[in-house]
Amino acid sequence: MGFKVVKFGGSSLADANQFRKVANIIKSDEKRKFVVPSAPGKRFSDDIKVTDMLYKCADLAGSGVDFSEPFNIIKERYNGIISELGVNISLDEDFDAIANELKARPSKDFAASRGEFLNGKVLAAYLGYEFVDAADVIIFDTNGVLLLDETVKAVRERVMNLPNAVIPGFYGRTTEGFVKTFSRGGSDVTGSIIANAVRAEIYENWTDVSGFLVTDPRIVENPDVIEVITYRELRELAYMGASVLHEDAIFPVRSAGIPINIRNTNRPEDAGTMIVSDDHDFKGESVAHTITGIAGRKGFSTINIEKAMMNSETGFGMKVLKALYENGLSFEHMPSGIDTMSITLDSAKLEPVRDKVLAQIRKEVNPDHLEIEDGIALLAVVGRRMKNTRGTVARIFAAMAHARINVKMIDQGSSELNVIIGVSEHDLNEAIRRIYDMFINSEK
Ligand code: ASP
Repeated sequence: MGFKVVKFGGSSLADANQFRKVANIIKSDEKRKFVVPSAPGKRFSDDIKVTDMLYKCADLAGSGVDFSEPFNIIKERYNGIISELGVNISLDEDFDAIANELKARPSKDFAASRGEFLNGKVLAAYLGYEFVDAADVIIFDTNGVLLLDETVKAVRERVMNLPNAVIPGFYGRTTEGFVKTFSRGGSDVTGSIIANAVRAEIYENWTDVSGFLVTDPRIVENPDVIEVITYRELRELAYMGASVLHEDAIFPVRSAGIPINIRNTNRPEDAGTMIVSDDHDFKGESVAHTITGIAGRKGFSTINIEKAMMNSETGFGMKVLKALYENGLSFEHMPSGIDTMSITLDSAKLEPVRDKVLAQIRKEVNPDHLEIEDGIALLAVVGRRMKNTRGTVARIFAAMAHARINVKMIDQGSSELNVIIGVSEHDLNEAIRRIYDMFINSEK
């Protein structure tokens, strides 16, 4: 029998009621053997996550100030969950040990990791599963870089023969023995690593949404959920800021060919989104729109350069890019015409070196015209099916033309997986709505 690794985010474990839902989900499928919990998250919108309170404790401890106030709130949260669920466990010794450690050696990573550590203990006791401390199996080098091979080996040795286990997310230890965390949201990464190590048939990532949405719900009301997305498509959308999953959670499962299923703890009946490899067999899919997702991001500028006979001047592009390089700037897109070139880049990064870059470009290539246009938004229309569908680009631009939106830049990657369009920031939302209508509503 194959098995599944299931990771539950902070909101899925924020209180006793959420714990009950989680246990029901786990117990309803005997393949769900390895469980990776986050720390208790927010119960309501202005609630504070346990992880944030732990960072606060570390800060106070670091300045030699008494941290018992936030620490007591943390204790109460766990004790509340324990007593409401009637679990036979006491964390009192752990609380004391943590407080003593923080007084002696205040470390942010150690403090933050305790949210998952304690939650893992409670969840393991509640489920009757074995608790495996992530510090024993997730290993970093002394610079805090994950050692994947060592980790995979340690995980296998420790958990493969267990009938089931709870392994807290977010942290591990360095080869020197210090507790180390991933960046925020890092329990996703732990889940992915465990899935790789035990060769799970699927990595289920349980959260509070029913998967990735085709586009931002703040722009399009109630957008469809993406049923299946490939890792490459996900990367294109994530670049534009659409994110449900920690970026580093992709690699461990992708390299092992394990799909990720994003699921909703509050609506377990929803199928969620499947993230699959590019060579996945898509035959069974029920919805098959031409495009998979639409995402946009504001805050770009374009440097527009014009010079007669630019196309025949050797080294022109190189000199312009050298000016960017020497000012520490990377660029996003660079479409060019015969006598024109325009470079799109992040406005915030350009700002401090703006005048220097302009002066250097002027000096290097002596353009006829040089200007910077700010307030540009980039919009990505992403879809693996675009490659085999004719007329997609025509439809995108028809949608924009009907809304009288001016297209400032177009870039279609050679993979034909996405079309990137530059528009004015104030046209972005309308552009997204029009494209959504054109491809999703009208294909229903
Ligand atoms: N609890 C950690 C955070 O709030 C890690 C996680 O939830 O994945 O960032």
